[in-house]
Amino acid sequence: MGLIRRLDPVVIHKIAAGEVIERPASVVKELVENSLDAKATKIEVYTYNGGIDKIIVKDNGEGILKEDLPLTIEKHTTSKIYSLSDLESLTSFGFRGEALHSISAVSLLEIQTKHISETIGTHMIAREGNILSLKPVSCLTGTSISVIDLFFSTPARKKFLKKPAFEDQKIFREIMKFTLSHPHVEFQYFRDDKPIMSLPSMNFYDLTKRIELLLGKGFADKLLPVFYEKEKIKVQGWIGKANLQNSLSEYQFVFVNQRAVEIKNLSSIIKKAYGPLLPTESKPIYFLFFEIPPFLIDVNVHPTKKEIRIQNEQEFYTFTIDAIKRTLLPNVPLNLDSSPKFTEKNFGTSHSSQIQPMIFSEAKTFYMEKTKNLEIPKQHQPEFPERILGVIFGTYILAASQNELFFIDQHTAHERINYEKKRKQILKNIHQKQILLYPIHFRLTNEEKELMKEFEEELQQLGFSWEFFSDNTLVLREIPDFLELEEEKEQFIQIIKNLSLGYNKIELYDSFIANKACKASIRKNDPISLEAISEMLMKLYQCEVPSRCPHGRPTIIRIDKSEIDRWFYRKETY
Ligand code: ADP
Ligand code: MG
Repeated sequence: MGLIRRLDPVVIHKIAAGEVIERPASVVKELVENSLDAKATKIEVYTYNGGIDKIIVKDNGEGILKEDLPLTIEKHTTSKIYSLSDLESLTSFGFRGEALHSISAVSLLEIQTKHISETIGTHMIAREGNILSLKPVSCLTGTSISVIDLFFSTPARKKFLKKPAFEDQKIFREIMKFTLSHPHVEFQYFRDDKPIMSLPSMNFYDLTKRIELLLGKGFADKLLPVFYEKEKIKVQGWIGKANLQNSLSEYQFVFVNQRAVEIKNLSSIIKKAYGPLLPTESKPIYFLFFEIPPFLIDVNVHPTKKEIRIQNEQEFYTFTIDAIKRTLLPNVPLNLDSSPKFTEKNFGTSHSSQIQPMIFSEAKTFYMEKTKNLEIPKQHQPEFPERILGVIFGTYILAASQNELFFIDQHTAHERINYEKKRKQILKNIHQKQILLYPIHFRLTNEEKELMKEFEEELQQLGFSWEFFSDNTLVLREIPDFLELEEEKEQFIQIIKNLSLGYNKIELYDSFIANKACKASIRKNDPISLEAISEMLMKLYQCEVPSRCPHGRPTIIRIDKSEIDRWFYRKETY
């Protein structure tokens, strides 16, 4: 006999009616909940076009019995509660028995599953609540559910959906909550076939690693661990350190008994607990995991509401304030940490580490040896120096040819080389992207956001992909590979501004590469070895425009031998 029963009519009555499926994120939520209920240890989510075209949730849970499969899409069918009293507990996620029913009513639903007790799986296709096909299939234990063409049968509902990017953000947030409440479960999330999350199973106490993978590197440094227990209630998790500036409520997560919930007033209670340790305009950051006996909780059973109420509200608030204070107080810094941070400069070359005194004769043979097989564009040949004479004033490379003396600025020359190299790479492969392992997040001004909207397409073409966490907080997940890591924010904003100034693609690249080239280049007074100089000169002379840096400054000044002769009133024939 299967596990699924029809609910008692009393229960049905008790369950507030309403729409379960509001948008693609609600589908994802319901399906992942079911996977977790089925004790999955690995869950994969795939969405296409904001989940509107297709959502797939695949798990390695216990699966569905062959005989139960057709029942899953009937109204008020569930294997999870058998009586009214169960409704009062929060131990099971899905308890309404109407998620799959509602989903199947508004989409093409495909389920492939194999129950752990069976040897062969079952595959079912349903549309608008009707089963179109039901047949055996060979597959592993677990369930894969595809929801195709969401709301195709309810165009009004479909119209109400926002742009796919917006729906994607909602989905992200929904999955993120599950990844925090279920650290042991491995999660993978692909959006339009691009990997967005790949989170291995971990311990609860390692959750900060997940937080960093989701919210950006360095985020965990802002957090303090919380642990507090009193009578029947326990809380663990992390809160933001004292004096943190944060204007976002997106970094507020509350879980009760492993379920993401909202608790009225909690944010302001926590803010109060910080007292003067939080700037007045800042919002607290928290990831709190409460364990509360179910009998102390009132669940609002309205299908889409996640808000719960705790009995003895005041006691609960006091408990929470105590937990926060006890966490903060031993950690209040006595004085502000203002020690400067030193960053190592990256010269972009491997040969700047040693100061090599120039020995001119040695330099000459060394250089000549290296240039023997060099291919130099014809137009540059007359200018090509043959001998390196040395470096003067820590900056200028002195070199000579048969008839000319050269002063070469080591910085601008290097800039030109880096610039052309980078430009070549980019023009060859214009849409190269890099996926950020640690997405970065930052706030845009309203004006920047407006501009961003205007140039959304261009930005995507350039290789950016992003989502908004709140109105103005942007999370960058992919950036074009010509962007400097660590400076994504500044550069992203620069790009928006340049787009609004009417830069075309090449100009845009140029402005960036020039800056990037500049930063990667050796500078005035940087020690530079003989080997590096010869390499640099060779590369410079292979450039298309060797005589100028990308910003227009000269790289080489040439003085003709005849000019020098004139200084000394010498005639060539002497
Ligand atoms: P509920 O979760 O409230 O029971 P749903 O409509 O979400 O209702 O699911 C109906 C039933 O289908 C569940 O009770 C469960 O027996 C079965 N089911 C759905 N998804 C899965 C899954 N991924 N693995 C195992 N069983 C599932
Ligand atoms: Mg469910």
